[in-house]
Amino acid sequence: MRRPPTLKTIEVFASVQGEGLRQGEPTIFVRLAGCNLRCAFCDTKFAWGRGHVRTVGQIAAAVQAIWRDFPARWVCLTGGEPLAQDIGPLLRQLRKAGLAIQVETNGTFDPRPSADWYTVSPKPPAYAFRPGFRKKAREVKLIASRGLTAETVRAVRRAFPLSTPVILQPQSNAPWSMRKAQRLLEQALREGLWNIRVSVQLHKIYGLK
Ligand code: SF4
Repeated sequence: MRRPPTLKTIEVFASVQGEGLRQGEPTIFVRLAGCNLRCAFCDTKFAWGRGHVRTVGQIAAAVQAIWRDFPARWVCLTGGEPLAQDIGPLLRQLRKAGLAIQVETNGTFDPRPSADWYTVSPKPPAYAFRPGFRKKAREVKLIASRGLTAETVRAVRRAFPLSTPVILQPQSNAPWSMRKAQRLLEQALREGLWNIRVSVQLHKIYGLK
C-alpha cells in the first residue's frame, strides 16, 4: 500500500501576515522544518531542526480546524525553507479547500507551479536564487542586515522585472537596520532604481507570532 505523503513541520497557527505586500492580512501559517541555509540573523532558528513528521492530510486538517474560528483566505507556507521538501501534495490539498497559498522562500529551490504568491528573499553571502523565480516572484524581500550593500540591492533590483517590488526589511525591526534600509533606499533612488520600498515586521510590533 502506498504511504501517504508527509512533511516535517514545526507549527500551524493563525496570525496576520507581518511582512511584505500582504502585510496586515489575516493568514494561517504552516511552518515547515529545516533550512539549507544558516543566516546569522535568522529569527526562526527554532525551525532548523527536524520538526514533527505529519501526513499532508493531518496538516490540512489542522489548517481547516483553525479556519473554522479564523476564516482567513490565505495560508502561508513558511519555515525554515518550505521548498526544501515536496510541498506539492499539500499545495493541491489546500487549493482544493479553496484557500489561496503564499510561499515564503529563500529562492534556492525551484518554484512549484501551483502557489498563488511567491515571496522570494535571497540571502547572503551569495544572494542566489533559481531563475524560475524571475517571473514567479510577486515580491522580493531583502533583509537590511549588516552585510547588505547597495551593490546587492542594485543587482537584485536588476534581476527581477521592474513590476516586482523589492522590499528592504529591517532586521528584527532594529533601529540601526531601519536607518540602513532608508539609506539604501535613498541611494537606489539616486541611481534611478525604481520600485524599491522599506517596510517593518508588523507582527512583532503587534506582539504576534
Ligand atoms: S533562509 Fe530564512 S529560514 Fe533559512 S536560515 Fe536564512 S533566514 Fe533562516
